[in-house]
Amino acid sequence: MKIAILGYGNLGRGVECAVRENSDMELVAVFTRRDPKDVKIRTEGVPVVRVEDIEAWKDKVDVLILCGGSATDLPGQTPQYAKFFHVVDSFDTHAKIPAHFAAVDAAAKATNHVAVISVGWDPGLFSLARVYANAVLPNGKEYTFWGRGVSQGHSDAIRRIAGVKDAKQYTIPVVKALAAVRRGDNPELTTREKHTRECFVVLEEGADAAKVEKEIKEMPNYFADYDTTVHFITEEELKASHSGLAHGGFVIRTGATGLHGEHKHAIEYSLKLDSNPEFTTSVLLAYARAAYRLAQEGVAGCKTVLDIAPAYLSPLSAEELRAKLL
Ligand code: NAP
Repeated sequence: MKIAILGYGNLGRGVECAVRENSDMELVAVFTRRDPKDVKIRTEGVPVVRVEDIEAWKDKVDVLILCGGSATDLPGQTPQYAKFFHVVDSFDTHAKIPAHFAAVDAAAKATNHVAVISVGWDPGLFSLARVYANAVLPNGKEYTFWGRGVSQGHSDAIRRIAGVKDAKQYTIPVVKALAAVRRGDNPELTTREKHTRECFVVLEEGADAAKVEKEIKEMPNYFADYDTTVHFITEEELKASHSGLAHGGFVIRTGATGLHGEHKHAIEYSLKLDSNPEFTTSVLLAYARAAYRLAQEGVAGCKTVLDIAPAYLSPLSAEELRAKLL
């Protein structure tokens, strides 16, 4: 499979690494909106190409991996490039997935392409875990906890505050809540009871720490509904101790069966990721394989992880899967 990348940020770099782990794939081009001179990639012999020239690659790429941001890039890019390529994206604004699906589906169907959207771990593998657990234990309750991990969106929000030079924000599940869920207590949990937020902030010279802390803690949607801790640290400390992009989380569903619900069950799916973007792009490539195979079968239109059977993801044949992994 000839794979190309659009957008060379964290995910773009992750795809570049993940391609090396998949012997049925090769990277053929990286497209960028920036001047290609300014984008240094780490794979020899692969061209960096201005996105304006992408159409000329229509027949030279099997699947284009869209690595733009969910907030403003992917809503335009995925429908636009599904006109020329089979595509996979990691769109993660959950509330806007239905509208994104409709726009991408129209573009992909009109030009006979397969587009797989909202791939990654959440949405993505966590969505699958939720659906499997829901279907298997209809009499139950399910919970998703994220962390401990770096939230890029929340870190960005802190960096936009006047007086902040740099910042990293960690989302942390509340241990007590996690334990209650695992015990099968079926607790009703508020936002504040499920996660806490911990911020490491480097101030600009002369900035007012108390004012910045208040502004962080009272920020609506991002921090106001959480117990938030703010640490002020030096730039060196931020670089040395907080430059990673680790993440992870848990999807747990507990339920009951039996005539009187007397038998309790728990399903737990968890991820512990050293690198959120490298893991996410590993999922994107498995779904690129599926997109390619579906296209060969004549399928067109937009799909999500919920529409694609697991065998399409694996490089193993159906016979090998039955013998080794079933
Ligand atoms: P990012 O590093 O900010 O990159 C986004 C885009 O910004 C790149 O495609 C790149 O496009 C541009 N860019 C990157 N570095 C730049 C620079 N130095 N100067 C100018 N432009 C630059 O974002 P990301 O971490 O790759 O994440 C992308 C999206 O993935 C996120 O928005 C998130 O929604 C999604 N995501 C989803 C999941 C999931 O589980 N579904 C998990 C993780 C992330 P150009 O090369 O065209 O400039």
